[in-house]
Amino acid sequence: MDRRSFLASGAALAAVASASRALAASGNPLLEKWVGAWDGLPPFDKVRLPDFEPAFRTAMDMQRAEIAAITASKPAPTFANTIEALERSGEALNNVATLYYVHTSVLITPETQAIEEKMAPVLAAYGDELTQNGPLFARIKTVYAARETSGLTAEQQRLVWVYHNNFVQSGAALDGPGKTRLAAINLRLADLYTAFSKNLLADERSDVLVLDTVEDLAGVPEANIGQAAAEAERRGLKGKWVIANNSSGMNPVFTFASRRDVRKKAWDLRMGLGGHAGGTTDNAPIIKEILKLRFERSRLMGYETFAHWRVSDRMAGTPQNAIALMEALLKPAIARMGEEVADMKSIAAAEGAAAQGADKDFSPWDYRYYAEKVRKAKYDIAEAELRPYLQLDRMKEAMFWVAGQVYGLTFHPVSGVPMPHPDGEVWEVKDRAGKHRALWYFDPFAREGKQSGAWANTYRQQGRFPKTTTVISTNNCNFSKPAPGEPTLLSWGDVAGSLFHEFGHAIHHLCSDVTYPTLSGTNVTWDYVEFPSQIYERWAMTPEVLGKFAVHHETGAPMPTALADKLRAARTFNQGFTTARQLSAAMLDMQIHLAGDADIDLVAFYEKEVARIGLPKEGELAPRLGWFSHIFSGEAYAAGYYSYAWAEALTADAWEAFLEAGGPYDPAVGQRLNDTIMSVGNTVPAATAFRNFRGRDVNIDALLRDRGFPIPNGA
Ligand SMILES: [Zn+2]
Repeated sequence: MDRRSFLASGAALAAVASASRALAASGNPLLEKWVGAWDGLPPFDKVRLPDFEPAFRTAMDMQRAEIAAITASKPAPTFANTIEALERSGEALNNVATLYYVHTSVLITPETQAIEEKMAPVLAAYGDELTQNGPLFARIKTVYAARETSGLTAEQQRLVWVYHNNFVQSGAALDGPGKTRLAAINLRLADLYTAFSKNLLADERSDVLVLDTVEDLAGVPEANIGQAAAEAERRGLKGKWVIANNSSGMNPVFTFASRRDVRKKAWDLRMGLGGHAGGTTDNAPIIKEILKLRFERSRLMGYETFAHWRVSDRMAGTPQNAIALMEALLKPAIARMGEEVADMKSIAAAEGAAAQGADKDFSPWDYRYYAEKVRKAKYDIAEAELRPYLQLDRMKEAMFWVAGQVYGLTFHPVSGVPMPHPDGEVWEVKDRAGKHRALWYFDPFAREGKQSGAWANTYRQQGRFPKTTTVISTNNCNFSKPAPGEPTLLSWGDVAGSLFHEFGHAIHHLCSDVTYPTLSGTNVTWDYVEFPSQIYERWAMTPEVLGKFAVHHETGAPMPTALADKLRAARTFNQGFTTARQLSAAMLDMQIHLAGDADIDLVAFYEKEVARIGLPKEGELAPRLGWFSHIFSGEAYAAGYYSYAWAEALTADAWEAFLEAGGPYDPAVGQRLNDTIMSVGNTVPAATAFRNFRGRDVNIDALLRDRGFPIPNGA
């Protein structure tokens, strides 16, 4: 995942003389210009929490003054007096927001939470104020209309398009009544998203799995049984076992519980979340209202449906393009799933009586249980076998080494600069010629007050307008901190999915070479942003990396070839299930947003869609709508769940470009990836950038091959 900063779409990073004067007068350290080496450093050591609110208010006023100067200017709107002026506005606000988001994501305390509660609506309203500024939008429109005839460079034309598009997507082009209605819809939707999540949470709390004897949990790992006993005690049910109704509670039951009736009970509880028809937590009426409001808003904006609107400025462009990708993948995935189920059924049959009927009536609650048995039989790699070879420090070296091989970057430790937390580290990044390129901050460990997961971000974006600014990029992970003197040993998921993946987002910034910061690095469209990070994961598994860096922490011996081979072979394990599950969710998401304002019976819609896709009844697949929070507890993934598969198709196809040439470290292909994708950010539309790299549009066969699926019509 890649977290974008506040106002990322309109971010401007450069200083102006008037802003500097206002700063000097304010006396708030958060508003002071960043000083120190490398164009200035984020002053983490100067942050005092009570300064945030006044700093935000002053910084917003400063940008308001900058924008008022733009709209009051007498000369006709031009690129320079409107778009560039906007691009250079708001430096102080960006700086304050950068420090604020560090505190609200990795240094969380009750005090930061109180500030956040107060500031969130203020910042949201400020964002609306910017995009609803009529005179400002009128000027942008004028520059936009003349963008191709006013002697602008390609990058400048792109910047005009981005500003214009951001304003239009926020409703700036609507008339008075349209804007009023849009605001009312947005307000109501925000409430509905909260209500959806609240219902889900209430069901998760009440619909837990309560078991009377520990034998009911036979097969489940000790740690999970311990948690279940503790949860029971917490609920006043000492002596019983309670499984929380979330994925970390339920998945171990589906995967390991040998009692089929217990798995079935767990399954029914999990599937029922948010769907108790007529109950106080029923999400159906909420979903129906969300769908109707999304549709009305999209029509207001001039689009056929919400899906059309949502996909319009993404790489896919139309819902049909996204659907075509999903259909091409679904068919072979479902066929593969059939083979996977056959493998499982034969294990169930071999278990005879112990299979408790699963051999004859294989059901969704059997799927993970028998998948785990197949995994053990075919690909068994004990986590304990792998971990000693995966030391954080060595894997970090590997990550740097890849960046050197592919992009010519080198990393040099830096000390004595302010950091958000003493666990962190800072590295200077230099280019092939040894010239300073960027700084990279890394905060690897979990701790209280830090959000879970792993992510990438920037403290400052790259640009050359109106002066050169170098990147300050950052990665956060949540690895367990080892005892002093002990190495941090990782799982393979940690290495590829957290370390290399998030570093791939950082690399997107570190390679950025654009003029306008708004177009730099990861400021690209939603269905394309994961491509540079996904492809970085591919290098983690190369023999070069495993051979050189995956060495035993005690003996220094490299990972045995057999183990490395098993690791690679396991990549295609259960891909039928994984792919069909992801795509059926994506298809459901897209189809329900194509349904217009039809009165939908959600249960019937779900069943019809699942049947149309041809999903096998044996496997747990599409999420039920009542708990599909990706698309109903907010908007980020609505009509956008396909983005995962879309970016994976780009990744697989781009990776084959390396394999078709000299391999993963082919210098010419690496250079081309840098020149056409990594360095250009959003200066080029995503589809054009990909075509520039590959010499053609994306070919989905690469992803089929990658997942081990047969290619239709030979090849
Ligand atoms: Zn990501």
